[in-house]
Amino acid sequence: MKLLVVEDERLLCDGIAEDLELEKYTVDRCYDGAEAWERLFVEPYDLVILDLNLPGMDGLELLRHIRAERPETRVLILSARAQLSDKVTGLDLGADDYLTKPFALEELEARVRTLLRRSFIQQDTRVQVGALTLDTTAREISAPGGPLSLTPKEFAILEHLMLHPGR
Ligand code: CA
Repeated sequence: MKLLVVEDERLLCDGIAEDLELEKYTVDRCYDGAEAWERLFVEPYDLVILDLNLPGMDGLELLRHIRAERPETRVLILSARAQLSDKVTGLDLGADDYLTKPFALEELEARVRTLLRRSFIQQDTRVQVGALTLDTTAREISAPGGPLSLTPKEFAILEHLMLHPGR
């Protein structure tokens, strides 16, 4: 499992990387958005932990690139921006999870574990929550009456909720 932490606050970036290394992950660090994209272009990562306010290239812009070129890479957004609009934009752009600063390292570790577990099992997986079924391959959510007709934003929010039951 190979991770990339993109965060320009060096102390935070190093702290996260060192913590995850203790959890036995291989972790690379990057303090600049554009540099991160160059690295992602040549090396496959299982998960990117991505800050939004970055020099070089904005986090949301970087996320757009990752989704276009590296669809299999999981992305966890890390940001001080607590506004709902940023969360929705990030999820719309295909972020897999979102953590608002400040956060406890234990929570980050738990989210990372969940995301990496999911990347193993997500090939051809159906997720059942109540009467709804999410088909992560077909990108479709069905109710007992048949597939739901959803806008991309509605789909992204419902999918996120279904992948995080209880939250
Ligand atoms: Ca930052």
